[in-house]
Amino acid sequence: MPEITVTLVDHTNSPQLMPLIQKHLADIFSDLLTSSSETPLVNIRSIAMTPKAGDQDLVLHFVDNIANSYVAANMPGPPITPVDGGVTRPGPKMTGSEFYKFPTDKNGKSLGQFRAIGYAKLAAHEAMHNVTRLSNEKLHPQGGVGASPPQLPVNDANRKAFQAGLGNIPAQLL
Ligand SMILES: [Zn+2]
Repeated sequence: MPEITVTLVDHTNSPQLMPLIQKHLADIFSDLLTSSSETPLVNIRSIAMTPKAGDQDLVLHFVDNIANSYVAANMPGPPITPVDGGVTRPGPKMTGSEFYKFPTDKNGKSLGQFRAIGYAKLAAHEAMHNVTRLSNEKLHPQGGVGASPPQLPVNDANRKAFQAGLGNIPAQLL
């Protein structure tokens, strides 16, 4: 049975929003893991503190904006460009993923605050980069939740790529 355990880490002090994002995101992961023969199992939680290593497969950080990037603070790299409403940075030891409460367009202009489903799409998009290890150039043409900006519903290309990466998810930025 395909199974994934996901931790959302809230760095934005949004205790009322997190359960809503979590619910939408669980639905998207269930769709990504769906195959013809087996029912997927998605375990998902949101916490406000650093998770323990080994307690989950995938960690997605929710931060206010690029200026408050948790990935940049913990993993050196080039400046983050606001392209997807989030970023995934693969590193030699681990991969860090985050999505933004106050996303901007590619020129840095605010897109306003999203509804929970919008944040779930951003988080799912970063999860796609994280699990599949695909670059923007490889992932975005898939469309669906792999598109930029990410769209629902999930499509077959998204499912195929996500399920292919499931057994080899990189170590996560905690
Ligand atoms: Zn992307």
